[in-house]
Amino acid sequence: MKWTKSLIQTLRDNPQDAEIDSHKLLVRAGIIRKLAGGLYTFMPLGMRTLKKIQRIVREEMDAAGALEIVSPILQPAELWQTTGRWDAMGANMFRLRDRGEHEFALGPTAEEVFTSLAKGVISSYRQLPVTIYQMQWKFRDETRPRFGLMRSKEFLMKDAYSFDADAEGADRSYWTMYHAYERIFARCGLKATPVQADGGDMGDSMTHEFHALADAGEDGIACCPACGYAANLERAERRLGERCDAECPPAEAVATPNARTIDEVAAFFGLPASAFVKTLVYVADGKPVVICVPGDREVNDVKVKRFLGAKTVALADARTVEEVTGAPVGFAGPVGLARADVPVYAEMSLKGARGAVAGANRADTHLKNVDLARDAKISGFADLVTCGAGDACPQCGKPMELKRGIEVGQVFKLGTKYTDAFRATYKNDRLEEKIMIMGCYGVGVSRTLQAVVEQSHDANGIIWPASIAPYQVVVENLDPEKPEVTSVADALEAALEAKGIDVIVDDRVERPGVKFKDADLIGFPVRVVVGAKGLANGGVEIKRRDEDKSATRIVAPEAAVEEIGKVLA
Ligand SMILES: [Zn+2]
Repeated sequence: MKWTKSLIQTLRDNPQDAEIDSHKLLVRAGIIRKLAGGLYTFMPLGMRTLKKIQRIVREEMDAAGALEIVSPILQPAELWQTTGRWDAMGANMFRLRDRGEHEFALGPTAEEVFTSLAKGVISSYRQLPVTIYQMQWKFRDETRPRFGLMRSKEFLMKDAYSFDADAEGADRSYWTMYHAYERIFARCGLKATPVQADGGDMGDSMTHEFHALADAGEDGIACCPACGYAANLERAERRLGERCDAECPPAEAVATPNARTIDEVAAFFGLPASAFVKTLVYVADGKPVVICVPGDREVNDVKVKRFLGAKTVALADARTVEEVTGAPVGFAGPVGLARADVPVYAEMSLKGARGAVAGANRADTHLKNVDLARDAKISGFADLVTCGAGDACPQCGKPMELKRGIEVGQVFKLGTKYTDAFRATYKNDRLEEKIMIMGCYGVGVSRTLQAVVEQSHDANGIIWPASIAPYQVVVENLDPEKPEVTSVADALEAALEAKGIDVIVDDRVERPGVKFKDADLIGFPVRVVVGAKGLANGGVEIKRRDEDKSATRIVAPEAAVEEIGKVLA
Protein backbone atom coordinates (compact mmCIF):
# COMPACT_ATOMS: atom_id res chain seq x y z
CA MET A 1 0.00 0.00 0.00
CA LYS A 2 1.20 3.47 -0.89
CA TRP A 3 0.58 6.27 1.61
CA THR A 4 -0.55 8.66 -1.13
CA LYS A 5 -3.41 6.26 -1.97
CA SER A 6 -4.34 5.38 1.61
CA LEU A 7 -6.66 8.24 2.62
CA ILE A 8 -4.62 8.69 5.80
CA GLN A 9 -5.20 12.04 7.40
CA THR A 10 -3.35 12.86 10.60
CA LEU A 11 -4.22 15.89 12.72
CA ARG A 12 -1.86 18.21 14.54
CA ASP A 13 -4.27 19.16 17.32
CA ASN A 14 -6.19 17.11 19.83
CA PRO A 15 -9.96 16.99 19.30
CA GLN A 16 -11.64 19.36 21.73
CA ASP A 17 -13.98 16.77 23.20
CA ALA A 18 -11.22 14.23 23.97
CA GLU A 19 -10.38 13.77 27.64
CA ILE A 20 -8.13 10.71 27.57
CA ASP A 21 -4.96 9.93 25.61
CA SER A 22 -6.33 7.01 23.61
CA HIS A 23 -9.28 9.06 22.34
CA LYS A 24 -6.98 11.94 21.32
CA LEU A 25 -4.53 9.62 19.59
CA LEU A 26 -7.11 7.55 17.69
CA VAL A 27 -8.60 10.70 16.18
CA ARG A 28 -5.28 12.45 15.55
CA ALA A 29 -3.76 9.37 13.94
CA GLY A 30 -6.73 9.07 11.59
CA ILE A 31 -7.79 5.68 12.96
CA ILE A 32 -11.33 6.86 13.69
CA ARG A 33 -13.26 9.95 12.64
CA LYS A 34 -16.16 11.49 14.52
CA LEU A 35 -19.50 11.59 12.74
CA ALA A 36 -21.47 12.99 15.69
CA GLY A 37 -21.36 12.69 19.49
CA GLY A 38 -20.69 9.04 20.38
CA LEU A 39 -20.61 7.96 16.72
CA TYR A 40 -17.36 7.18 14.90
CA THR A 41 -16.32 5.99 11.47
CA PHE A 42 -13.46 3.50 11.35
CA MET A 43 -11.13 4.88 8.70
CA PRO A 44 -9.08 2.49 6.51
CA LEU A 45 -6.32 2.22 9.14
CA GLY A 46 -8.85 1.64 11.94
CA MET A 47 -10.77 -0.87 9.85
CA ARG A 48 -7.58 -2.92 9.36
CA THR A 49 -6.98 -3.08 13.11
CA LEU A 50 -10.63 -3.78 13.87
CA LYS A 51 -10.61 -6.68 11.38
CA LYS A 52 -7.47 -8.13 12.97
CA ILE A 53 -9.08 -8.04 16.42
CA GLN A 54 -12.24 -9.60 14.98
CA ARG A 55 -10.17 -12.35 13.43
CA ILE A 56 -8.48 -13.16 16.74
CA VAL A 57 -11.85 -13.22 18.51
CA ARG A 58 -13.35 -15.50 15.83
CA GLU A 59 -10.39 -17.89 15.87
CA GLU A 60 -10.60 -18.28 19.65
CA MET A 61 -14.39 -18.63 19.66
CA ASP A 62 -14.23 -21.25 16.92
CA ALA A 63 -11.39 -23.06 18.71
CA ALA A 64 -13.57 -23.15 21.85
CA GLY A 65 -16.28 -24.88 19.82
CA ALA A 66 -18.68 -21.94 19.61
CA LEU A 67 -20.91 -21.52 16.53
CA GLU A 68 -21.12 -18.18 14.75
CA ILE A 69 -24.39 -16.68 13.55
CA VAL A 70 -25.55 -13.15 12.96
CA SER A 71 -28.90 -11.96 14.24
CA PRO A 72 -30.78 -8.75 13.37
CA ILE A 73 -29.87 -5.48 15.04
CA LEU A 74 -33.55 -4.56 14.92
CA GLN A 75 -35.28 -6.54 17.68
CA PRO A 76 -39.07 -6.70 18.15
CA ALA A 77 -40.43 -5.31 21.43
CA GLU A 78 -42.33 -8.56 22.14
CA LEU A 79 -39.03 -10.38 22.83
CA TRP A 80 -38.03 -7.80 25.42
CA GLN A 81 -41.51 -7.79 26.95
CA THR A 82 -41.21 -11.54 27.54
CA THR A 83 -38.43 -10.94 30.08
CA GLY A 84 -39.75 -7.62 31.38
CA ARG A 85 -36.70 -5.83 30.08
CA TRP A 86 -38.63 -3.62 27.63
CA ASP A 87 -39.40 -1.46 30.67
CA ALA A 88 -36.33 -2.27 32.75
CA MET A 89 -33.88 -1.04 30.08
CA GLY A 90 -35.34 2.44 30.40
CA ALA A 91 -33.82 5.32 28.47
CA ASN A 92 -30.63 3.39 27.64
CA MET A 93 -32.37 1.56 24.81
CA PHE A 94 -32.98 3.09 21.39
CA ARG A 95 -36.59 2.41 20.38
CA LEU A 96 -38.40 2.96 17.13
CA ARG A 97 -41.59 2.00 15.25
CA ASP A 98 -42.06 0.65 11.78
CA ARG A 99 -44.76 2.00 9.46
CA GLY A 100 -47.20 -0.48 10.91
CA GLU A 101 -46.63 0.98 14.39
CA HIS A 102 -44.79 -2.13 15.59
CA GLU A 103 -42.22 -1.32 18.23
CA PHE A 104 -38.56 -2.29 17.93
CA ALA A 105 -35.31 -1.77 19.78
CA LEU A 106 -31.85 -1.31 18.33
CA GLY A 107 -30.24 -4.21 20.16
CA PRO A 108 -28.13 -3.18 23.17
CA THR A 109 -27.51 -6.90 23.80
CA ALA A 110 -29.16 -10.09 22.57
CA GLU A 111 -30.10 -12.47 25.41
CA GLU A 112 -33.75 -12.42 24.34
CA VAL A 113 -32.95 -13.03 20.66
CA PHE A 114 -30.63 -15.96 21.42
CA THR A 115 -32.92 -17.52 24.02
CA SER A 116 -35.86 -17.48 21.64
CA LEU A 117 -33.57 -18.89 18.96
CA ALA A 118 -32.44 -21.72 21.24
CA LYS A 119 -36.05 -22.48 22.15
CA GLY A 120 -36.83 -22.79 18.45
CA VAL A 121 -33.93 -25.02 17.42
CA ILE A 122 -33.03 -27.08 20.50
CA SER A 123 -35.29 -29.89 21.62
CA SER A 124 -33.06 -32.72 22.85
CA TYR A 125 -30.24 -33.19 25.33
CA ARG A 126 -28.27 -34.58 22.39
CA GLN A 127 -27.89 -31.04 21.02
CA LEU A 128 -26.37 -29.79 24.28
CA PRO A 129 -24.12 -28.20 25.29
CA VAL A 130 -23.98 -25.52 22.64
CA THR A 131 -22.46 -22.03 22.59
CA ILE A 132 -23.60 -19.62 19.88
CA TYR A 133 -22.00 -16.26 19.16
CA GLN A 134 -22.13 -13.28 16.88
CA MET A 135 -20.11 -10.19 16.19
CA GLN A 136 -22.61 -7.42 15.81
CA TRP A 137 -23.04 -3.68 16.29
CA LYS A 138 -24.84 -2.80 19.50
CA PHE A 139 -26.54 0.41 20.56
CA ARG A 140 -26.86 2.32 23.81
CA ASP A 141 -28.40 5.72 24.27
CA GLU A 142 -25.66 6.95 26.61
CA THR A 143 -26.54 9.91 28.83
CA ARG A 144 -23.14 11.35 28.06
CA PRO A 145 -21.17 9.68 25.28
CA ARG A 146 -17.47 10.27 25.92
CA PHE A 147 -13.97 8.83 25.75
CA GLY A 148 -14.26 7.99 22.03
CA LEU A 149 -15.02 4.30 21.51
CA MET A 150 -15.20 3.65 25.27
CA ARG A 151 -18.64 5.10 25.80
CA SER A 152 -20.15 5.44 22.37
CA LYS A 153 -23.74 5.09 21.20
CA GLU A 154 -22.81 2.37 18.72
CA PHE A 155 -20.15 -0.27 19.37
CA LEU A 156 -18.98 -3.60 18.02
CA MET A 157 -19.46 -6.50 20.40
CA LYS A 158 -18.86 -10.17 20.26
CA ASP A 159 -21.64 -11.73 22.31
CA ALA A 160 -21.89 -15.45 23.01
CA TYR A 161 -24.56 -17.48 24.78
CA SER A 162 -24.15 -20.99 26.13
CA PHE A 163 -26.97 -23.48 26.66
CA ASP A 164 -26.45 -26.46 28.94
CA ALA A 165 -28.44 -29.34 30.33
CA ASP A 166 -27.20 -29.03 33.90
CA ALA A 167 -25.19 -26.91 36.33
CA GLU A 168 -21.94 -28.83 35.83
CA GLY A 169 -22.18 -28.33 32.09
CA ALA A 170 -22.91 -24.61 32.56
CA ASP A 171 -19.82 -24.42 34.75
CA ARG A 172 -17.67 -26.02 32.05
CA SER A 173 -19.05 -23.68 29.38
CA TYR A 174 -18.28 -20.71 31.63
CA TRP A 175 -14.64 -21.65 32.17
CA THR A 176 -14.14 -22.53 28.50
CA MET A 177 -15.14 -18.98 27.60
CA TYR A 178 -13.08 -17.55 30.47
CA HIS A 179 -9.93 -19.20 29.13
CA ALA A 180 -10.76 -18.23 25.54
CA TYR A 181 -11.00 -14.61 26.73
CA GLU A 182 -7.59 -14.82 28.37
CA ARG A 183 -6.16 -15.91 25.01
CA ILE A 184 -8.06 -13.26 23.02
CA PHE A 185 -6.72 -10.36 25.04
CA ALA A 186 -3.20 -11.76 25.21
CA ARG A 187 -3.13 -12.16 21.43
CA CYS A 188 -4.34 -8.56 21.02
CA GLY A 189 -1.36 -7.42 23.10
CA LEU A 190 -3.65 -6.25 25.90
CA LYS A 191 -2.88 -6.86 29.56
CA ALA A 192 -6.39 -7.73 30.77
CA THR A 193 -7.00 -8.82 34.36
CA PRO A 194 -9.98 -11.03 35.21
CA VAL A 195 -11.74 -9.57 38.24
CA GLN A 196 -14.65 -10.81 40.32
CA ALA A 197 -17.65 -8.62 39.62
CA ASP A 198 -21.16 -7.88 40.76
CA GLY A 199 -23.92 -9.94 39.21
CA GLY A 200 -26.25 -6.95 38.90
CA ASP A 201 -29.89 -8.00 38.73
CA MET A 202 -28.74 -11.61 38.70
CA GLY A 203 -27.85 -11.40 42.38
CA ASP A 204 -24.98 -13.58 43.42
CA SER A 205 -24.38 -15.30 40.10
CA MET A 206 -20.79 -15.98 39.19
CA THR A 207 -19.32 -13.37 36.92
CA HIS A 208 -15.87 -12.10 35.99
CA GLU A 209 -15.04 -8.92 34.14
CA PHE A 210 -11.85 -8.60 32.14
CA HIS A 211 -10.25 -5.21 32.76
CA ALA A 212 -7.44 -3.46 30.96
CA LEU A 213 -5.78 -1.73 33.88
CA ALA A 214 -5.26 1.95 33.00
CA ASP A 215 -5.57 5.23 34.90
CA ALA A 216 -8.23 6.37 32.44
CA GLY A 217 -10.47 3.40 33.34
CA GLU A 218 -13.96 4.11 34.63
CA ASP A 219 -14.08 1.18 37.07
CA GLY A 220 -12.34 0.93 40.42
CA ILE A 221 -10.65 -2.39 41.15
CA ALA A 222 -9.19 -3.75 44.39
CA CYS A 223 -6.11 -5.87 43.73
CA CYS A 224 -3.95 -7.87 46.11
CA PRO A 225 -0.33 -7.94 44.91
CA ALA A 226 0.42 -10.78 47.35
CA CYS A 227 -2.11 -13.41 46.21
CA GLY A 228 -3.63 -12.04 43.01
CA TYR A 229 -7.15 -11.43 44.36
CA ALA A 230 -8.85 -8.87 42.11
CA ALA A 231 -12.41 -7.60 42.31
CA ASN A 232 -14.47 -4.71 41.02
CA LEU A 233 -15.05 -2.23 43.87
CA GLU A 234 -18.76 -2.93 43.49
CA ARG A 235 -18.00 -6.36 44.80
CA ALA A 236 -14.53 -6.33 46.49
CA GLU A 237 -14.52 -7.59 50.07
CA ARG A 238 -12.06 -7.06 52.89
CA ARG A 239 -10.96 -9.03 55.90
CA LEU A 240 -11.79 -7.55 59.30
CA GLY A 241 -10.32 -8.10 62.72
CA GLU A 242 -12.67 -8.47 65.68
CA ARG A 243 -13.75 -5.12 67.09
CA CYS A 244 -13.71 -4.91 70.90
CA ASP A 245 -14.16 -1.31 72.01
CA ALA A 246 -14.10 -0.62 75.76
CA GLU A 247 -17.37 -0.39 77.72
CA CYS A 248 -18.83 3.10 77.64
CA PRO A 249 -21.13 5.12 79.92
CA PRO A 250 -24.77 5.66 78.89
CA ALA A 251 -25.37 7.54 75.67
CA GLU A 252 -25.66 11.27 76.08
CA ALA A 253 -27.16 13.97 73.87
CA VAL A 254 -24.85 16.85 72.97
CA ALA A 255 -25.95 20.09 71.29
CA THR A 256 -24.03 20.46 68.01
CA PRO A 257 -25.29 23.67 66.42
CA ASN A 258 -24.34 24.13 62.76
CA ALA A 259 -22.57 20.78 62.58
CA ARG A 260 -24.16 18.46 60.04
CA THR A 261 -21.46 16.86 57.93
CA ILE A 262 -19.10 14.24 59.32
CA ASP A 263 -16.21 16.74 59.00
CA GLU A 264 -18.09 19.42 60.92
CA VAL A 265 -19.14 17.02 63.67
CA ALA A 266 -15.64 15.50 63.86
CA ALA A 267 -14.18 18.99 64.31
CA PHE A 268 -16.77 19.74 67.01
CA PHE A 269 -15.97 16.59 69.03
CA GLY A 270 -12.25 16.57 68.20
CA LEU A 271 -12.51 12.94 67.12
CA PRO A 272 -11.50 11.17 63.90
CA ALA A 273 -14.26 10.46 61.37
CA SER A 274 -13.96 6.74 62.10
CA ALA A 275 -15.44 7.34 65.57
CA PHE A 276 -18.79 8.27 63.99
CA VAL A 277 -21.66 6.17 62.85
CA LYS A 278 -22.72 7.67 59.53
CA THR A 279 -26.43 7.01 59.10
CA LEU A 280 -28.22 7.26 55.75
CA VAL A 281 -31.82 6.70 54.79
CA TYR A 282 -32.35 4.80 51.54
CA VAL A 283 -35.43 3.77 49.66
CA ALA A 284 -35.28 0.19 48.40
CA ASP A 285 -38.08 -0.90 46.07
CA GLY A 286 -40.21 1.91 47.48
CA LYS A 287 -39.61 1.14 51.18
CA PRO A 288 -37.33 3.13 53.51
CA VAL A 289 -34.35 1.42 55.08
CA VAL A 290 -31.60 2.84 57.31
CA ILE A 291 -27.93 2.08 56.61
CA CYS A 292 -25.14 2.74 59.12
CA VAL A 293 -21.45 2.79 58.19
CA PRO A 294 -18.29 4.07 59.91
CA GLY A 295 -17.88 7.84 59.42
CA ASP A 296 -14.73 7.44 57.33
CA ARG A 297 -16.36 5.02 54.86
CA GLU A 298 -18.60 5.39 51.83
CA VAL A 299 -21.78 3.35 51.43
CA ASN A 300 -21.56 1.09 48.39
CA ASP A 301 -24.99 1.27 46.73
CA VAL A 302 -24.38 -1.87 44.68
CA LYS A 303 -23.59 -3.89 47.81
CA VAL A 304 -26.67 -2.47 49.56
CA LYS A 305 -28.81 -3.45 46.60
CA ARG A 306 -27.38 -6.96 46.53
CA PHE A 307 -27.71 -7.40 50.31
CA LEU A 308 -31.35 -6.30 50.28
CA GLY A 309 -32.12 -8.24 47.12
CA ALA A 310 -33.77 -5.05 45.85
CA LYS A 311 -34.45 -4.03 42.26
CA THR A 312 -33.88 -0.33 42.91
CA VAL A 313 -32.00 1.44 45.68
CA ALA A 314 -31.55 5.19 46.03
CA LEU A 315 -30.93 7.76 48.74
CA ALA A 316 -34.20 8.98 50.24
CA ASP A 317 -35.41 12.53 49.61
CA ALA A 318 -35.48 15.09 52.44
CA ARG A 319 -39.15 14.47 53.23
CA THR A 320 -38.64 10.74 53.68
CA VAL A 321 -35.55 11.35 55.84
CA GLU A 322 -37.54 13.67 58.10
CA GLU A 323 -40.39 11.19 58.32
CA VAL A 324 -38.11 8.25 59.18
CA THR A 325 -35.77 10.06 61.60
CA GLY A 326 -38.07 12.75 62.99
CA ALA A 327 -35.33 15.33 62.33
CA PRO A 328 -34.08 17.48 59.47
CA VAL A 329 -31.46 16.01 57.14
CA GLY A 330 -28.02 15.80 58.76
CA PHE A 331 -28.93 14.40 62.18
CA ALA A 332 -29.89 10.81 61.46
CA GLY A 333 -28.67 8.11 63.83
CA PRO A 334 -29.47 4.49 64.64
CA VAL A 335 -30.82 5.28 68.14
CA GLY A 336 -34.36 6.61 68.64
CA LEU A 337 -35.62 6.78 65.05
CA ALA A 338 -39.14 8.21 64.70
CA ARG A 339 -40.17 5.20 62.59
CA ALA A 340 -39.30 2.17 64.73
CA ASP A 341 -40.62 -0.17 62.00
CA VAL A 342 -37.92 0.80 59.49
CA PRO A 343 -35.11 -1.77 59.46
CA VAL A 344 -31.60 -0.59 60.39
CA TYR A 345 -28.65 -2.40 58.81
CA ALA A 346 -25.08 -1.74 59.86
CA GLU A 347 -21.74 -2.30 58.17
CA MET A 348 -20.09 -5.40 59.55
CA SER A 349 -17.10 -3.44 60.88
CA LEU A 350 -19.51 -1.71 63.29
CA LYS A 351 -20.18 -4.97 65.12
CA GLY A 352 -19.05 -4.34 68.70
CA ALA A 353 -18.83 -0.55 68.23
CA ARG A 354 -18.96 1.28 71.57
CA GLY A 355 -18.32 4.88 72.52
CA ALA A 356 -19.32 6.05 69.05
CA VAL A 357 -20.92 9.35 68.04
CA ALA A 358 -24.10 9.38 65.97
CA GLY A 359 -26.88 11.74 65.00
CA ALA A 360 -29.60 11.96 67.67
CA ASN A 361 -32.57 12.21 65.26
CA ARG A 362 -33.10 15.69 66.64
CA ALA A 363 -32.09 19.02 65.05
CA ASP A 364 -28.61 20.27 66.02
CA THR A 365 -28.02 17.30 68.32
CA HIS A 366 -25.69 14.28 68.36
CA LEU A 367 -25.36 11.37 70.74
CA LYS A 368 -22.02 10.41 72.23
CA ASN A 369 -21.14 7.17 74.04
CA VAL A 370 -23.30 5.12 71.71
CA ASP A 371 -23.00 1.35 72.24
CA LEU A 372 -24.55 0.07 69.02
CA ALA A 373 -25.61 -3.31 70.44
CA ARG A 374 -26.94 -1.80 73.68
CA ASP A 375 -28.66 1.32 72.33
CA ALA A 376 -29.86 0.51 68.80
CA LYS A 377 -31.99 -2.18 67.23
CA ILE A 378 -29.84 -3.45 64.37
CA SER A 379 -31.64 -5.81 61.99
CA GLY A 380 -28.41 -7.16 60.55
CA PHE A 381 -24.74 -6.58 59.80
CA ALA A 382 -23.32 -6.84 56.30
CA ASP A 383 -20.51 -5.73 54.01
CA LEU A 384 -21.94 -2.40 52.84
CA VAL A 385 -18.95 -0.15 52.13
CA THR A 386 -16.46 0.33 49.31
CA CYS A 387 -12.98 -1.08 49.86
CA GLY A 388 -10.08 1.34 50.11
CA ALA A 389 -6.35 1.12 49.48
CA GLY A 390 -4.65 -0.72 52.33
CA ASP A 391 -7.73 -2.75 53.33
CA ALA A 392 -6.87 -6.35 54.14
CA CYS A 393 -7.27 -8.84 51.29
CA PRO A 394 -10.16 -11.26 51.96
CA GLN A 395 -8.04 -14.19 50.78
CA CYS A 396 -4.65 -13.59 52.42
CA GLY A 397 -5.01 -10.56 54.70
CA LYS A 398 -2.23 -8.55 53.03
CA PRO A 399 -2.94 -4.90 52.12
CA MET A 400 -4.77 -4.34 48.82
CA GLU A 401 -4.14 -1.69 46.17
CA LEU A 402 -6.72 0.29 44.21
CA LYS A 403 -6.43 0.38 40.43
CA ARG A 404 -8.54 1.71 37.55
CA GLY A 405 -9.74 -0.54 34.76
CA ILE A 406 -11.41 -0.44 31.36
CA GLU A 407 -13.89 -3.30 31.08
CA VAL A 408 -13.21 -5.11 27.80
CA GLY A 409 -15.02 -8.37 28.46
CA GLN A 410 -17.37 -10.19 30.82
CA VAL A 411 -18.32 -13.79 31.40
CA PHE A 412 -21.58 -14.40 33.22
CA LYS A 413 -23.54 -17.35 34.55
CA LEU A 414 -27.15 -16.47 33.81
CA GLY A 415 -28.77 -19.60 35.22
CA THR A 416 -32.37 -19.89 34.03
CA LYS A 417 -33.50 -16.25 34.15
CA TYR A 418 -34.04 -16.05 30.37
CA THR A 419 -34.76 -19.69 29.61
CA ASP A 420 -37.50 -19.66 32.28
CA ALA A 421 -39.06 -16.55 30.77
CA PHE A 422 -39.11 -18.13 27.29
CA ARG A 423 -39.79 -21.68 28.51
CA ALA A 424 -36.69 -22.74 26.54
CA THR A 425 -36.65 -26.44 27.31
CA TYR A 426 -35.06 -29.66 26.08
CA LYS A 427 -36.00 -33.30 26.61
CA ASN A 428 -33.58 -35.38 28.67
CA ASP A 429 -32.84 -39.09 28.07
CA ARG A 430 -36.03 -40.05 29.96
CA LEU A 431 -37.97 -37.67 27.70
CA GLU A 432 -38.65 -35.31 30.60
CA GLU A 433 -38.86 -31.63 29.75
CA LYS A 434 -36.12 -29.55 31.41
CA ILE A 435 -35.18 -25.85 31.35
CA MET A 436 -31.83 -25.07 29.73
CA ILE A 437 -29.14 -23.34 31.78
CA MET A 438 -27.53 -20.32 30.21
CA GLY A 439 -24.36 -18.27 30.28
CA CYS A 440 -23.51 -15.10 28.38
CA TYR A 441 -20.13 -13.78 27.36
CA GLY A 442 -19.21 -10.42 25.84
CA VAL A 443 -16.11 -8.88 24.33
CA GLY A 444 -16.16 -5.18 23.55
CA VAL A 445 -14.38 -5.44 20.20
CA SER A 446 -14.24 -1.73 19.35
CA ARG A 447 -13.52 -0.91 22.97
CA THR A 448 -10.63 -3.38 23.03
CA LEU A 449 -9.07 -1.47 20.14
CA GLN A 450 -9.07 1.70 22.22
CA ALA A 451 -7.99 -0.04 25.45
CA VAL A 452 -4.87 -1.28 23.66
CA VAL A 453 -4.01 2.32 22.76
CA GLU A 454 -4.67 3.48 26.32
CA GLN A 455 -2.19 0.88 27.57
CA SER A 456 0.31 1.23 24.76
CA HIS A 457 1.33 4.75 23.75
CA ASP A 458 3.92 7.43 24.49
CA ALA A 459 4.22 11.19 24.04
CA ASN A 460 4.69 10.74 20.27
CA GLY A 461 1.74 8.51 19.57
CA ILE A 462 0.35 4.99 19.50
CA ILE A 463 2.58 1.89 19.85
CA TRP A 464 0.56 -0.92 18.22
CA PRO A 465 1.27 -4.55 19.10
CA ALA A 466 2.32 -6.26 15.86
CA SER A 467 -0.70 -8.61 16.01
CA ILE A 468 -3.27 -5.85 15.48
CA ALA A 469 -1.28 -2.97 13.95
CA PRO A 470 -2.93 -1.48 10.82
CA TYR A 471 0.36 -2.23 9.05
CA GLN A 472 3.24 -4.00 10.75
CA VAL A 473 5.88 -2.09 8.81
CA VAL A 474 6.14 1.42 7.39
CA VAL A 475 8.80 1.92 4.71
CA GLU A 476 9.85 5.57 4.64
CA ASN A 477 10.88 6.41 1.12
CA LEU A 478 12.77 9.64 1.77
CA ASP A 479 13.41 10.37 -1.91
CA PRO A 480 10.33 9.30 -3.84
CA GLU A 481 11.45 11.32 -6.83
CA LYS A 482 14.67 9.31 -7.22
CA PRO A 483 13.99 6.12 -9.18
CA GLU A 484 16.96 4.27 -7.60
CA VAL A 485 15.52 4.88 -4.12
CA THR A 486 11.92 4.17 -5.06
CA SER A 487 12.90 0.89 -6.69
CA VAL A 488 14.53 -0.27 -3.42
CA ALA A 489 11.48 0.80 -1.38
CA ASP A 490 9.06 -0.89 -3.78
CA ALA A 491 11.11 -4.08 -3.93
CA LEU A 492 11.11 -4.19 -0.14
CA GLU A 493 7.33 -3.73 -0.11
CA ALA A 494 6.85 -6.62 -2.52
CA ALA A 495 9.24 -8.89 -0.61
CA LEU A 496 7.55 -8.19 2.73
CA GLU A 497 4.09 -8.74 1.29
CA ALA A 498 5.27 -12.02 -0.17
CA LYS A 499 6.24 -13.05 3.37
CA GLY A 500 2.77 -12.15 4.67
CA ILE A 501 3.93 -8.98 6.44
CA ASP A 502 1.63 -5.92 6.00
CA VAL A 503 3.51 -2.91 4.81
CA ILE A 504 2.77 0.67 3.84
CA VAL A 505 5.24 2.75 1.85
CA ASP A 506 5.32 6.43 2.71
CA ASP A 507 5.81 7.80 -0.80
CA ARG A 508 4.82 11.37 0.02
CA VAL A 509 7.10 14.21 -1.05
CA GLU A 510 7.53 15.56 2.46
CA ARG A 511 10.37 16.39 4.84
CA PRO A 512 11.67 13.33 6.75
CA GLY A 513 10.65 15.00 10.03
CA VAL A 514 7.00 15.17 8.94
CA LYS A 515 7.01 11.55 7.79
CA PHE A 516 8.66 10.22 10.96
CA LYS A 517 6.26 12.18 13.12
CA ASP A 518 3.24 10.67 11.34
CA ALA A 519 4.73 7.17 11.56
CA ASP A 520 5.24 7.58 15.31
CA LEU A 521 1.76 9.05 15.77
CA ILE A 522 0.06 6.17 13.96
CA GLY A 523 2.37 3.72 15.71
CA PHE A 524 3.48 1.17 13.10
CA PRO A 525 5.57 -1.42 15.01
CA VAL A 526 8.58 -1.25 12.66
CA ARG A 527 9.94 1.66 10.66
CA VAL A 528 12.30 1.14 7.73
CA VAL A 529 14.05 4.22 6.29
CA VAL A 530 15.12 4.09 2.65
CA GLY A 531 16.93 7.17 1.34
CA ALA A 532 19.62 8.10 -1.16
CA LYS A 533 22.04 9.08 1.61
CA GLY A 534 21.52 5.89 3.59
CA LEU A 535 21.83 3.66 0.54
CA ALA A 536 25.11 5.37 -0.38
CA ASN A 537 26.35 4.66 3.14
CA GLY A 538 25.53 0.98 3.05
CA GLY A 539 21.89 0.35 3.66
CA VAL A 540 18.45 0.92 5.10
CA GLU A 541 17.63 1.78 8.70
CA ILE A 542 15.36 -0.48 10.73
CA LYS A 543 13.88 0.57 14.07
CA ARG A 544 11.06 -0.66 16.27
CA ARG A 545 8.49 1.93 17.37
CA ASP A 546 9.07 1.09 21.05
CA GLU A 547 12.85 1.54 20.83
CA ASP A 548 14.77 4.80 20.74
CA LYS A 549 16.99 5.96 17.91
CA SER A 550 20.14 4.36 19.33
CA ALA A 551 18.67 0.92 18.65
CA THR A 552 18.51 1.56 14.88
CA ARG A 553 19.95 -1.28 12.80
CA ILE A 554 21.55 -0.54 9.43
CA VAL A 555 21.46 -3.42 6.97
CA ALA A 556 21.97 -3.92 3.26
CA PRO A 557 18.67 -3.80 1.30
CA GLU A 558 19.00 -7.52 0.46
CA ALA A 559 19.17 -8.39 4.18
CA ALA A 560 16.30 -6.11 5.21
CA VAL A 561 13.41 -8.61 4.95
CA GLU A 562 15.10 -11.15 7.18
CA GLU A 563 16.07 -8.49 9.72
CA ILE A 564 12.52 -7.08 9.77
CA GLY A 565 11.18 -10.59 10.36
CA LYS A 566 13.49 -10.91 13.38
CA VAL A 567 12.54 -7.50 14.74
CA LEU A 568 8.82 -8.31 14.45
CA ALA A 569 9.13 -11.71 16.10
ZN1 LIG B 1 -4.34 -11.49 48.93
